[in-house]
Amino acid sequence: MKYDYLVVGAGLYGSVFAHEAATRGKRVLVVDKRPNIAGNVYTEDIEGIHVHKYGAHIFHTSDKKIWDYMNQFAEFNNYINSPVAVYKDELYNLPFNMNTFSKMFNIATPAEAKAKIQAEIEELGITEPKNLEEQALSLVGRSVYEKLIKGYTEKQWGRDCKELPSFIIKRLPLRFIYDNNYFNDRFQGIPMGGYTAIVEKMLEGSDVLLNTDYYEFRKENPDIAAKTVYTGMLDQYFDYRYGVLEYRSVRFETEKLDMENYQGNAVVNYTEREVPYTRIIEHKHFEYGTQPVTVISREYPSEWKLGEEPYYPVNDAKNETVAEKYRALAAAEKNVIFGGRLGEYRYYDMDKVIEKALKAVEEETGI
Ligand code: UDP
Repeated sequence: MKYDYLVVGAGLYGSVFAHEAATRGKRVLVVDKRPNIAGNVYTEDIEGIHVHKYGAHIFHTSDKKIWDYMNQFAEFNNYINSPVAVYKDELYNLPFNMNTFSKMFNIATPAEAKAKIQAEIEELGITEPKNLEEQALSLVGRSVYEKLIKGYTEKQWGRDCKELPSFIIKRLPLRFIYDNNYFNDRFQGIPMGGYTAIVEKMLEGSDVLLNTDYYEFRKENPDIAAKTVYTGMLDQYFDYRYGVLEYRSVRFETEKLDMENYQGNAVVNYTEREVPYTRIIEHKHFEYGTQPVTVISREYPSEWKLGEEPYYPVNDAKNETVAEKYRALAAAEKNVIFGGRLGEYRYYDMDKVIEKALKAVEEETGI
């Protein structure tokens, strides 16, 4: 056999695995059906702006080991995610914090904000929330729910909040300090030079074949590697025998604009139902870009159909039951490691993907 590992998918999981295996002296071949490496963290260079082609990726973690790991491959800037929400003609800071409340209720102190929200919650009198709407209302009250959650969530999931299970929003943190930092993690930033450059470095010790469909490739090369690391769709590997796992998808409409600054922030959410997109990303602001032009992407959530890009696993009870059956098959599959968001059908943040890939290599090689 020519290789120790055939890694299917040059995204973050596959690339971390490939890098670590190659560093330990293993021979690694990576195949990917796309014409480019880096999976969904791929950034495309448009006039010096790193455009997050498959959705905005902001790196954040509380794990120092993972932070240090990523910093080997790139320097990170000090970007802090602070989205702005637009509801009709009103602007609010996210996450829900004192800046949001002072604008919404015309108040100034945490005590005043708490009193306002508490009064709204009590007025509703929901004791046992039966759906997402009731869950959200009982946590944040009517004003925040109607202006900042309802429309966005219904667009994102394509269903009425009353028909969505409450577990999607178990916790909706309200922050009673003036702090617009979206994430609670200790470390956060955007890699200077873009994510693609990181993945390029990770893949330096491996052979890489792009535009290569794994299922076609393995027909002609059944014995090319001792083991396979599979990061494609879990159900596809097993020929959808228990049915197709569902995803929510997103369509990006990306546009170059002949102006320096379109919206003044990297992320602006549109929380009313009537606006068809959920958010607009202005990519240059992730890196404090000073180019004379700008590139924006509108995000339109959509129903996913086989053959389209899968983004968000729908981890509701129905899909989880099916996924568990596939995961059992995966665990029993000899010489194949299933990893990443698609390979495990789990919605992982980047830091969790890296952590899982590092653990998998350690288990494999004992080092
Ligand atoms: N959400 C919301 N209003 C917003 C942003 C988010 O109600 O302005 C809710 C919504 O239900 C969404 C969830 O929070 O599905 C997670 O959104 P986030 O943008 O944090 O996740 P991402 O899509 O970036 O993974």
